Amino acid sequence: MILTQERGPLDLTSAELAEWLAERNIPKYRAKQIFQGFYKTLAADYDGISVLPKALREELTNIAPIFTPVIVRELRSSDNRTMKLLLRLRDGRLIETALMLYPPSQYGRGRATVCVSTQAGCAFGCTFCATGQMGFDRHLTAGEIVAQIIIFARMLRHEPWKYPAAMGFPAGEIDHITNIVLMGMGEPLHNYTHSLQALHIINDPEGFHLGARHMTVSTVGVIPGIERLAKEPLQVNLAISLHAPNNAMRIKTMPVARKWRMDELMTACRAYIQSTGRQVTFEYVLLAGINDAKEHAIELASRLQGLKQFAHVNLIPVNATSAEYRPPNGADIAAFRAILTKAGVSNSVRAERGDDIAASCGQLRTRETALRQS
Ligand code: SAH
Ligand code: SF4
Repeated sequence: MILTQERGPLDLTSAELAEWLAERNIPKYRAKQIFQGFYKTLAADYDGISVLPKALREELTNIAPIFTPVIVRELRSSDNRTMKLLLRLRDGRLIETALMLYPPSQYGRGRATVCVSTQAGCAFGCTFCATGQMGFDRHLTAGEIVAQIIIFARMLRHEPWKYPAAMGFPAGEIDHITNIVLMGMGEPLHNYTHSLQALHIINDPEGFHLGARHMTVSTVGVIPGIERLAKEPLQVNLAISLHAPNNAMRIKTMPVARKWRMDELMTACRAYIQSTGRQVTFEYVLLAGINDAKEHAIELASRLQGLKQFAHVNLIPVNATSAEYRPPNGADIAAFRAILTKAGVSNSVRAERGDDIAASCGQLRTRETALRQS
């Protein structure tokens, strides 16, 4: 096995790292120490893995350097519950990554969720999405995806998030990442191999050991990718970005619907549910005056009714990226929800958050680029 810029030490699972080191006559127990150094100690470089002899640290620094993306900008929301980073990759490309913190509530334990980018830019061009509007630069490597999680894991370990007592729950702190969602810049199923490899690395019991149930892949509807995901041993959560109740409407905001039609997408979702027995989340970005009318809710409910308890709708009031779109008001959102609920379709509204730091991925980079050009 040869390490390259596309395949560095952070691109490998523990077994692959052990194999690579074995080829260089470095014993297995060292491989374990190095992998644990990366993902348990969260060392930034080999010198941070103090159990390794100095000569080995030097050798590894030379033959397998670790590249960590550079933090160009760090933003925290005014409530201190969302943090967003603009990262510069080795080739100068900029990506965004975000950490969202949730205190314990009636919905469950406290959470620290990293929203991870899988590509620089995106090829799918959804009209409401800042990333879609910048076009596609390139796929991220597995190591570049993993690095986003590690950067936040280090931050939290160094400075745990303290939440106050609220609604009957005592005060406490969170010092580790509990969830990851591939919902940052890019389309994970367009970068299938690297996205899945990153999830395997983060799931690896020798290291970070985050359970597959705590990972979510969000897709615009890349049907071959959904079919492949259904067969993966790693049983992650699947979210489908639907955003319209029928294909004619979907085409208007999501060019992907010309290639993979909505009826084919629903068939792929049914097959996914059948083979995995797992629930699918349907994301629905609410665009005032476009897809938020009562008849749209009725049509959406009728499409999903056949999936019964295996479908959950997550309504997302749009984060306006252009003058063209604005989120509906609270009453319209409530009316939309009520129709779904009455039809027996489980649903929720994503809490708007991080608005003051440009929450949806792509907005921060767009703003940064505009600033640089002005
Ligand atoms: N490409 C994947 C994952 C990244 S986008 C996908 O499309 O699913 C993650 C989610 O953010 C998607 O549901 C996407 O539609 C949504 N999104 C994009 N732009 C948004 C905006 N301006 N406001 C709210 N949600 C947005
Ligand atoms: Fe790409 Fe997802 Fe944005 Fe669409 S919503 S352009 S698929 S990142």
